[in-house]
Amino acid sequence: MAIQNDQFKKIVAHCKEYGFIFQSSEIYDGLSAVYDYGPYGVELKNNIKQYWWQSMVQMHENIVGIDAAIFMHPKTWKASGHVDAFNDPLIDNKDSKKRYRADVLIEEYMEKIEVKINKEIKKAHKRFGDSFDEVKYRAENPRVAKYIANHADIGSQLASAMSNNDMVTLKGIIEELQIACPVSGSRNWTDVRQFNLMFSTQLGNVAGEEGKLYLRPETAQGIFVNFLNVQKTTRQKIPFGIAQIGKAFRNEIVARQFIFRMREFEQMEMQFFVAPGEEMKWYEYWKDTRLKWHKAIGTPEEKLRFHKHENLAHYANAAVDIQFNFPFGFKELEGIHSRTDFDLSSHQELSGKKLQYFDPVLGENYVPYVVETSIGCDRMFLATLSNAYEEEIVPDAKGNDSTRTVLKLNPAIAPVKCAVLPLVKKEDALTKKARAIFEDLRFSFNCQYDEKDGIGRRYRRQDAIGTPYCVTVDGTTLEDNTVTIRERDSLEQIRVPIEKVEQIMSDRINMKKLFL
Ligand code: ATP
Repeated sequence: MAIQNDQFKKIVAHCKEYGFIFQSSEIYDGLSAVYDYGPYGVELKNNIKQYWWQSMVQMHENIVGIDAAIFMHPKTWKASGHVDAFNDPLIDNKDSKKRYRADVLIEEYMEKIEVKINKEIKKAHKRFGDSFDEVKYRAENPRVAKYIANHADIGSQLASAMSNNDMVTLKGIIEELQIACPVSGSRNWTDVRQFNLMFSTQLGNVAGEEGKLYLRPETAQGIFVNFLNVQKTTRQKIPFGIAQIGKAFRNEIVARQFIFRMREFEQMEMQFFVAPGEEMKWYEYWKDTRLKWHKAIGTPEEKLRFHKHENLAHYANAAVDIQFNFPFGFKELEGIHSRTDFDLSSHQELSGKKLQYFDPVLGENYVPYVVETSIGCDRMFLATLSNAYEEEIVPDAKGNDSTRTVLKLNPAIAPVKCAVLPLVKKEDALTKKARAIFEDLRFSFNCQYDEKDGIGRRYRRQDAIGTPYCVTVDGTTLEDNTVTIRERDSLEQIRVPIEKVEQIMSDRINMKKLFL
């Protein structure tokens, strides 16, 4: 874990140094858990959003998009359950005055048990070699079996306390496990209290509770309240989906791990409306489809896993997370939830407006069931960067070993697709030619022109921001109108006629390939 944390620190520093992400309001010492995306960050984030939008909306005839407002009628949040049930259990340590999420303290304790189990298994694997049978070892080794039973026991106590909103039991678990504050080391805890995560603000011309507005904590409700508007105007038939990308706000108790847990973040959500009884089929379909989406962009299979929810939210009858192995371990990246007809029915009840669909096949009216896929754009950004970041030894221009930091991003989402570099700055004819190539290519994709410093340093700068191709203009270019294209990962260089550069590059960076 220590090496991984080291890696994490490097990624955070890289984000700042190369203009991907800045702390919000940094000159005032920053605002906790709020971040700004810099020049390369915004490009990468937009490309991630485009990849999601195209795969969802453009590639599915039965999915359409909307862009709903952040503010919604306050009754929305009453109906959705967020006013009464969007709480996290918080606990304070009286000595350090630090605040924690009680469930997270317990989960972290459980993770430590998992680490112990994995350590034992690794040791045994080494000892027994190829004949090692992990399943048998897990069941029969007394020490490991004890850890596993203990882990399961704490897990079920936690799940039951969370679903019953039982704050006393949560505190009891923390006491029983003798969990200490990571800062003060003391076990001097307050009681566990519920804390609502919604930010509120006030409408200008209405005083008191009447004018209280919330900043949406999820984008989904904008889709639910527009369900019939969209269905009628697009004449979609069930099953069909509505997709949306937009900001969401949560007053997170413990905000840390960089852009993993923010107070203002962006979600990419899709609600898929199905006939009652069909939801499990579609739940499986979307689990499979979303995992493929992650793999297509280059996330290795071993860094992804499903984590089924034991402790279901008030609206769900099945839920699973797609977890990614972040530098700080496997954590939720995306949620796939079978939300039943909870949201539409609640809105129907509270608004008094029918939110039903007439099914021409079944010949009946019903409130549709919903399967949603919900991914945080910022978490996807962090997963993408963590996966792409590498430090490696490569030969420099003179053939000596040198270290480079490179972002091995899929070319389709790289912030800059191509850099045009004259080999030397001094020659007027060379820079003119390079500039002309750049002026032409920029019509097709995001390009940079760079003539400052030696060619090796310029290559390194492009590697660090993940530019997949560098077009180098040299003496030969002036003679025969050819340039070299250097590929970021393999470092291979090919010489091609100038008029072919645009086509070669367009083929290689095309997002289309990810959908085939
Ligand atoms: P967690 O358990 O990590 O708090 P959650 O289960 O509350 O997440 P959902 O309500 O399912 O999250 O939200 C869907 C997605 O939105 C998550 O999978 C995650 O990618 C993203 N997300 C949720 N909260 C945050 C946050 N505070 N900062 C950044 N992304 C977030």
